[in-house]
Amino acid sequence: MELNLKATLTFSDEVNKAEEQIKEIIVKSNEDILKRGVPDDVQGGARVCDHSVEGKKINLHIRSDRFVRAHDALLRLKKRFNEEMGPRFHVGVREIEVDEYIVDFELDMAAKEEINLPYVDEIDIRGKRCKLNISGLVEEQLSKNYVDRIISRVKEKIEAQYYEGKEEKWELVYESGEKDIVWDRDPTEEMAARGWIKRGPTKGKWFYRPQATKILKTLEKIAVEEVLKPLGFQEVIESMMVPFDVWIDTGHMEGIPNEAYYVSEPVTRNPKAWEEIIDEIKITREVPRERLDEMTKTPKAGLCYAQCPLIYWSLRNETISDESLPILLYEKTVPSTRYESGGRHGIERVDEFHRIEPVYIGTKDQLMELKEDLIRKYTYVFDEVMDIEWRMAEVEPFYLQQSGTGAEEEDVDLGTIDFEAYLPYKGSREESEWLEFGNLSIFGKYTKTFNIKSQTKKLLSGCTGIGIERWATAFLAQKGLDPEDWPSKFKDHLGKMPKGFKLL
Ligand code: ATP
Ligand code: ZN
Ligand code: MG
Repeated sequence: MELNLKATLTFSDEVNKAEEQIKEIIVKSNEDILKRGVPDDVQGGARVCDHSVEGKKINLHIRSDRFVRAHDALLRLKKRFNEEMGPRFHVGVREIEVDEYIVDFELDMAAKEEINLPYVDEIDIRGKRCKLNISGLVEEQLSKNYVDRIISRVKEKIEAQYYEGKEEKWELVYESGEKDIVWDRDPTEEMAARGWIKRGPTKGKWFYRPQATKILKTLEKIAVEEVLKPLGFQEVIESMMVPFDVWIDTGHMEGIPNEAYYVSEPVTRNPKAWEEIIDEIKITREVPRERLDEMTKTPKAGLCYAQCPLIYWSLRNETISDESLPILLYEKTVPSTRYESGGRHGIERVDEFHRIEPVYIGTKDQLMELKEDLIRKYTYVFDEVMDIEWRMAEVEPFYLQQSGTGAEEEDVDLGTIDFEAYLPYKGSREESEWLEFGNLSIFGKYTKTFNIKSQTKKLLSGCTGIGIERWATAFLAQKGLDPEDWPSKFKDHLGKMPKGFKLL
């Protein structure tokens, strides 16, 4: 990597008279602070290779390598100029201007298509050589590490170009074998026809009437009683709104900004300020949406997409006592919301769904053991209680699917498992797409990002999604809507179906 930075430091007063001292500072800095951090056995670092002094300004040309970034060198120099010229000449640096900043580095693979990035004036990629012109960055941006992140983003975008065409990993781990299938109808349509569910009131939502509610609640109860309680999971309740800083830390903000629902606050609670809107509503019976836009703030938070981010947030910077490990928690109060758009279907792909999300934090050994326990319990439930035809596969971890790259090697090893069910209404077992109705992952990155520690051991974390509507779809698509056909262990948990009501 080669960095070439031309910058101008503007002082509070003329510095011509200090020309000699400026030269001395530069010579000395080239020897010490601009080499700081370079390993002993290598020749490298940053170097001011040219400079000139004009009135209040010093123009610098800094050349460097990856050991000391040229802009870090510039910031170190600024500090030294202030320290050494302040006392003697009563001047300080008022402004830093980047006149030209060219970053030249080697890529692992050549780009397949042109790429663009904010903050970069020009990207010139030839084969595996990449040259960026980032002259537009200001001091604060330089000190906040934008340069490294710009370089990583270039690499990430190029990797994603290769990733796009690739088949996602999918390796079968277990198959239940064929089960008796009662019918081949779409359970959502049949439930809607019977009045068990009602579509709406907005896109991708359903109103569940007593019969459908009973089925969903029974599945939720089965998950809690047959899987979570026996393994020692404890219930928690979180907020339905997730601030952006949490999603930045989990990667959701960059991974799924196109699927999130956003929350805006009113600009004020003062009823006076809302009077005009209220008048409009009373007179027109409509909401004046442009006025409402003015009265609501730009979002700073989104609605829950998955429950795990706030569970991690709740443990940020905490040290967990060894005796409490592994921590096993689950959340089932807050619905998940996702803008599924064209992908919506039935109750199984909706914009608001109900899910239990168990989250676990512990040592690698503890979580590997838990993973086996969870799989054993799930297998019992799917095979014995729901008696469905399902399979289990190792797949690409979700953040790989969602953001293209960014996984740590260690995470990839630990991986993700998907549970999939056969939906007879979709066609043959071999040709139709099976429904992912649950998953299970273990990660290294969240305990790191949220700085969740133990007294002595390295911690990992993970989560497993129990999508209630998906469990219901898997079950009903195979077992039908007639309780007569349902397996007895399921009926034990169900009790009696509610009688609902008749509409004329
Ligand atoms: P898909 O690939 O089907 O979109 P996903 O990878 O987005 O699923 P996850 O983020 O892993 O799903 O969510 C975990 C669980 O939540 C899924 O296994 C599923 O049970 C459920 N789920 C996800 N999206 C929806 C949805 N739109 N409607 C209903 N349930 C969902
Ligand atoms: Zn999760
Ligand atoms: Mg999805």
